[in-house]
Amino acid sequence: MIINYNTPVTDIKGVGPKTAEHLGKLGIITMGDLLSYFPRSYLVYGGLKNISELADDEMAAVRVRVDMVGNIRRVKNNMSLLTLEVSDDSGNMVIKYFNMPFMAKAVRKGGYYIFRGRVAKNGREISMVQPKKYSGDEYSALSGSYQSIYPLTKGLSNSQLSKAVKKSLEMADFSEDYLSGDERDYLGLPDIKWAYRNIHDPGSDSDAMLARRRLSFDEMFFFVMYLRKNRELIKDRENTCPMVESAEVTRLIEKLPYKLTKGQTKACKDIISDMTGKHLMNRLVQGDVGSGKTIVSVIALLNAVSNGYQGALMAPTEVLAAQHYRTVSDLTKMYGLPFKTVLLTGAVKASDKKKIYSDIASGEVNLIIGTHALIQDNVVYKNLGLVVTDEQHRFGVRQRENLASKGAGPHILVMSATPIPRTMAIVLYGDLSISAIKDMPEGRKPIKTCVVGESYRPSAVSFIKEEIGKSHQIYIICPMVEASDEDEADPELKNVIEYTDRLKSILGERYRISYLHGRMKPQDKDFILSEYARGNIDILVSTTVIEVGVNVPNATVMMVENSERFGLSQLHQLRGRVGRGESQGYAIFMTSKSDEKTMERLGILAKTNDGFEISSHDLKTRGPGELFGVRQSGELSFRVADIFADADLLQKASDHADKILDSDRHLSAPENRSLKNELEFFGRNYLDFRTI
Ligand code: ADP
Ligand code: MG
Repeated sequence: MIINYNTPVTDIKGVGPKTAEHLGKLGIITMGDLLSYFPRSYLVYGGLKNISELADDEMAAVRVRVDMVGNIRRVKNNMSLLTLEVSDDSGNMVIKYFNMPFMAKAVRKGGYYIFRGRVAKNGREISMVQPKKYSGDEYSALSGSYQSIYPLTKGLSNSQLSKAVKKSLEMADFSEDYLSGDERDYLGLPDIKWAYRNIHDPGSDSDAMLARRRLSFDEMFFFVMYLRKNRELIKDRENTCPMVESAEVTRLIEKLPYKLTKGQTKACKDIISDMTGKHLMNRLVQGDVGSGKTIVSVIALLNAVSNGYQGALMAPTEVLAAQHYRTVSDLTKMYGLPFKTVLLTGAVKASDKKKIYSDIASGEVNLIIGTHALIQDNVVYKNLGLVVTDEQHRFGVRQRENLASKGAGPHILVMSATPIPRTMAIVLYGDLSISAIKDMPEGRKPIKTCVVGESYRPSAVSFIKEEIGKSHQIYIICPMVEASDEDEADPELKNVIEYTDRLKSILGERYRISYLHGRMKPQDKDFILSEYARGNIDILVSTTVIEVGVNVPNATVMMVENSERFGLSQLHQLRGRVGRGESQGYAIFMTSKSDEKTMERLGILAKTNDGFEISSHDLKTRGPGELFGVRQSGELSFRVADIFADADLLQKASDHADKILDSDRHLSAPENRSLKNELEFFGRNYLDFRTI
């Protein structure tokens, strides 16, 4: 453990108020936060290459002569473009700098320089975009070393962050490792101080991997310890919100336009039996995207409300909360359900909030739907009987617990699409009972998926027109919101705003095209999404904000641009947005990268529909440099650990927890003192996995 964890970042040499402010945006307030902010990947400063040796998409350094310094041109989006023509004995290459006109003065025609950047090959043209320039001496000092690449925020550079981390590593004061030397040997793990040093500043790939393993172990072990404790606390708690099975539930199930699947029926039965039983419910409903978890939660909420309790439904995003609100309101109207529903998200105006709070406190409303605004301290419930959290993997355990602490002891129901095998679920959700929905609603057709390159674009466009002709709707996903002006920006990346404009000019007035992204005002987001749900928009161009849970059964085509940029699980979630009704759903994954590795990786999506298989492939096909790269959204969100890659570690962590707790349940033995301290600290600082 880092004893001086809470030293403010401003005490680190070289970190001024401005840098501290940027760090704050990344959630880094203390030196410990900074040391726990791990690199996303590493780059090795490799040996110099000849131009003729360069491969597409690799990071490489070349020593070249500048043959021509081009004029600075204005290109799209009012960006400036400077082009340099360079060569060595083996060939020619083009260097492009967007919005860096000063580079024209930094080089001189006929001079020799080293440029290091990502290589792009396009036909016969070889280019590097925004490479860094070095002198021979500068580069040989770096050669062979590892550069840690951190996720950044605007105004904060990688080198500023790295410098602050290096200083922190010098300052950090570590307490005795809670794993003894023997235990570390047994587990094959290094000590914690070594791990922190080497995750930030490794000497080799294997050092970085080992450091990551130790930190992953800690994360999983603390998590498991926490679950064990939580299980003790919540296990067999008296049912303080007793209920009977309400006739409303049977009535609704009979009236629904479809028959519940076997899995849905069983889940409802489990839930009712919990809520009417002796103990408080703590249940997880697990089912792949589209398996129909929403209606199961509505049935649970209906039972709670019919028994005179309030129910709460918490979703990870405002978009999803608003959708649930609409779904429930529609059902309420259609079937005369006894819900008095309110939507509470961060977007609600302060003046409206007051009224909502008082309605919640007085019991004027009995179903509260929202985001984590539901668990803020100023929300007081009259008689909360059931809390449902949707897309559980998006929330931290602590948030789940916070909401639970709102009532005398509400029943807890969590919904998740995380495709994990049962054995793993038992460890990860060790404090919950599990109902699995394994079957899909009748008549669902598997989504047809294709992975295609640019040449397919015209066909894709005419296919989209055809589907709109059948009154169906389309999603198009782009990786970015708008053209970025950061150094690393890749001008090839599609962005939502430009894309929408271009699409409008290509397709013309006849099509109703809108866009959606996370930086829009919540009201605007909700408006667009509800218009889309009502069928008033044909094509919705969006970032991945729609990835979680959004349900518009009339949408049949999911087209993803630059799909190589996304994790496979994320693409699987995305395609889960279509094929949710009776019509055939299609996923078109566009990619401009046609190399074998990319095609093989994306090809997995065309081969299987099994979420778990897809997730495990995702990990196998990652290179060591991308270790932390693909932060999966469809998974439990640990900061370092990855439940698929580290399945063995999770088991070890679980066994280790058993061993310790079996012999010393309260951690009162002297040899467990440092562990106990650490856990107390962990409980305060780590448990809110920052994922939303
Ligand atoms: P998810 O499990 O991903 O949350 P949803 O609950 O959003 O899935 O359900 C997806 C769609 O399937 C919704 O339009 C819902 O009305 C529909 N649906 C749910 N259950 C059934 C069923 N048993 N038969 C037919 N359609 C169903
Ligand atoms: Mg859902």
